[in-house]
Amino acid sequence: MMVVEEKDILRVQLKEVFGYDQFRGNQEVIIRNILSGKNTFVIMPTGAGKSLCYQLPAITSNKLVVVISPLIALMKNQVDQLNAFGVNAQFLNSTLSKTEINRVKKGCLDGHIKLLYVAPESLTKEENVEFLKKTDIAFVAVDEAHCISEWGHDFRPEYRRIKSIIDQIGNLPIIALTATATPKVQQDIRKNLTMDDADTFMSSFNRKNLYYEIRPKKHTKKQLIKFMSENKGKAGIVYCLSRKKVEEISELLRVNGFKAAPYHAGLDASVREANQDAFLNEDIDIIVATIAFGMGIDKPDVRFVVHYDVPKSLEGYYQETGRAGRDGLEGNCIMFYSHNDINKLEKFNKDKSVTERENGKVLLQEMTYFSESPVCRRRLLLHYFGEEFDQDNCGACDNCLRPKDQFEGKEYIHHVLEAAKMTGERFGLEHLSDVLTGKSSNYVKSYSHDQLEIFGIGKANDVEFWKSIIRQTLVYDFLKKDIDNVSVFKLTEKGEQFISTPYSFTLAKDHVYDTETTHEEENYDRPPINTKAYDEVLFEQLKALRKSLAKKKNLPPYVIFQDPSLEEMATIYPTNKDELAQINGVGMGKVNKFGNEFIAAIKEYVEEHDITTAADVVVKSSVNKSKMKIYIIQQIDRKVDLEEIAETKNISFDDLLVEIENICYSGTRLNLDYYLEQILDEDKQEDIYDYFMNTETDSIEEALDELSEDYSEDEIRLMRIKFMSEIAN
Ligand code: ADP
Ligand code: ZN
Repeated sequence: MMVVEEKDILRVQLKEVFGYDQFRGNQEVIIRNILSGKNTFVIMPTGAGKSLCYQLPAITSNKLVVVISPLIALMKNQVDQLNAFGVNAQFLNSTLSKTEINRVKKGCLDGHIKLLYVAPESLTKEENVEFLKKTDIAFVAVDEAHCISEWGHDFRPEYRRIKSIIDQIGNLPIIALTATATPKVQQDIRKNLTMDDADTFMSSFNRKNLYYEIRPKKHTKKQLIKFMSENKGKAGIVYCLSRKKVEEISELLRVNGFKAAPYHAGLDASVREANQDAFLNEDIDIIVATIAFGMGIDKPDVRFVVHYDVPKSLEGYYQETGRAGRDGLEGNCIMFYSHNDINKLEKFNKDKSVTERENGKVLLQEMTYFSESPVCRRRLLLHYFGEEFDQDNCGACDNCLRPKDQFEGKEYIHHVLEAAKMTGERFGLEHLSDVLTGKSSNYVKSYSHDQLEIFGIGKANDVEFWKSIIRQTLVYDFLKKDIDNVSVFKLTEKGEQFISTPYSFTLAKDHVYDTETTHEEENYDRPPINTKAYDEVLFEQLKALRKSLAKKKNLPPYVIFQDPSLEEMATIYPTNKDELAQINGVGMGKVNKFGNEFIAAIKEYVEEHDITTAADVVVKSSVNKSKMKIYIIQQIDRKVDLEEIAETKNISFDDLLVEIENICYSGTRLNLDYYLEQILDEDKQEDIYDYFMNTETDSIEEALDELSEDYSEDEIRLMRIKFMSEIAN
């Protein structure tokens, strides 16, 4: 019963505060896990909804939740977003004045603040540790947990001290969250936070709404301008490798009439910040940046990410493209590729240590294979992160939409697998392709592999052809890399089966970008992933309204409402608060804060265009039951006086009490102390409480008989609710 109710309250608050009807993926199990006091490890791709996993339990629990976050900008952003939802969250960092710090500390101690964001630097300060010891903490969330690992891309030494400091504060459960999928980093996180016991929740890394495309790096500027014109007005990021290139491309876009600005480490901090803000506030559409840009922002409506230059690793590519479409809507990822870029990157590695150079080389090789491969980009990316993608055609990448030259691969695959088997499953790409093409090198001879039946069987094709086949057998899981030595390929079960009973299998030729035509020449248009079902004119008006409101409130526009909410508004035309509250992503806090302006705009639009809205056709029923229940729980949570709740809902005080009793008897804990304090002094409260403690029945009639005439029926009923909540529930 308790479990069912806990689930209820989570769902109630999910809708009330955040305006979401459903949990996404693992969110609910994760939340229950951390609420039950267990260490929790969350691995989810960007945009999957990690923040909710610690924000929602912070709201439903009566204790403070401490969130450790690496960047001040990121913290401020989350705090702004939570405040817009009507949730009291604050941060503690070096930007605050003494008075502000004291105000925040007081709020944490008296329970008003639900979430406290802390930078690791502030956490290490003695005075803050002392202060945190005094607070009542439910759990600690370590966001961007990969910062702990030297193997990650954003290593932060202070992150390594987090665990020892948490231990000083108390024995607290930890929820660690990251979007980094590599096993090495995960292992580091577990080790450093000493949470081997943690329950791990890993989500698929497939970003369904992202479209991946790689284009030959030819007439690149022309291609870029064309792409930008097709996407004018949308927010996007263009990544370049060097600062110089960033400046050049940003200038190019500006002179071509696009609202773009540069971002790189060589710019003044103030300029960087101003450009980033302009991007967040929709004053400019495009940021041209080195990889330095991105980690500090979680702008949900980035519609495209262009890699003007090839990134250094697939991890980087995945992270950077991952910044597109976090809200689940359109996200186009375009990369310009030339093998020359890979050579340049290899040169950069020259001055590094031997191991770094070797690592860098392997990463670049993977980048090359990925780019030149004819296989579905999605399958390739997921395979790289150890995940299998089980669709034949993802429908949202260049290789699936316009397959490269395909051919029957049955015989080729069979040759590759035989070669692997006959050589004892102890070799990799180079050796296998040498054997297949019949290269009688000393190395091949030293193993007598030139004596094998398979030797030279594929000499009609060159070595590059065979390498491509071998790589495809890897991606399609006929072969797998050995765990201990990744340059050794072994047969999978699927591979073994294929050897004994081969079947038809389509392969394709690698891209050869130097000879490929550009889309410019092909004049190719891809079908859009999201067909717009909403009223685009209204959507644009609402966007403009959002922007002007954001300016006034000094917030990024997406903090007010996100694009998916605006799209829904432009579909169902809500013209009152109840209808607005039905929109996904619109909680009660936002209805009250920003609702009026939007409702007015939609009303005006609806009248002007003579649109029939849902409200016109559906006969309005009295406020539905569960919605009432949700509303009451939420208002009590916010310590709203009961008279006020009854009044807003237009019901009698008695009806309200009946509702509250129902809620309470179905197992939900309600804290009415704030209200009881006003109507009954402590002694009287104790008197009634004791009565219920010692009586056999919860009948109100009996209580009225037994207790002194000083007490009204309402008072007794309210005390019975308190008693039930504390003792029974
Ligand atoms: P992450 O931190 O994993 O990158 P966020 O926490 O920023 O992701 O969430 C990504 C987007 O998903 C946000 O726009 C957020 O509002 C939205 N979101 C999160 N949970 C839900 C949910 N249960 N239903 C609908 N949208 C959600
Ligand atoms: Zn695909």
